[in-house]
Amino acid sequence: MYSLRQAKLDVYDVPKIAICLLLGIFLLSIFIVGFDQGHLFSSVQGQKAFDTKWLHEFYHDMRHAAGFPCH
Ligand SMILES: [Zn+2]
Repeated sequence: MYSLRQAKLDVYDVPKIAICLLLGIFLLSIFIVGFDQGHLFSSVQGQKAFDTKWLHEFYHDMRHAAGFPCH
């Protein structure tokens, strides 16, 4: 016989490390979509990253849809 217990998720049961990890991913995503002008790849590519703005071009439409100023 199966037990039909209802699963209860309490907010306080969520590990703090998971909340911190998701917050970090959220903030990094906001930076990449909204503010990156080549900064992220500049440590690898140097000045070329600021010229090509690869991530900026990749997320350009999403950037406009989200309302970030662009051009
Ligand atoms: Zn634009």
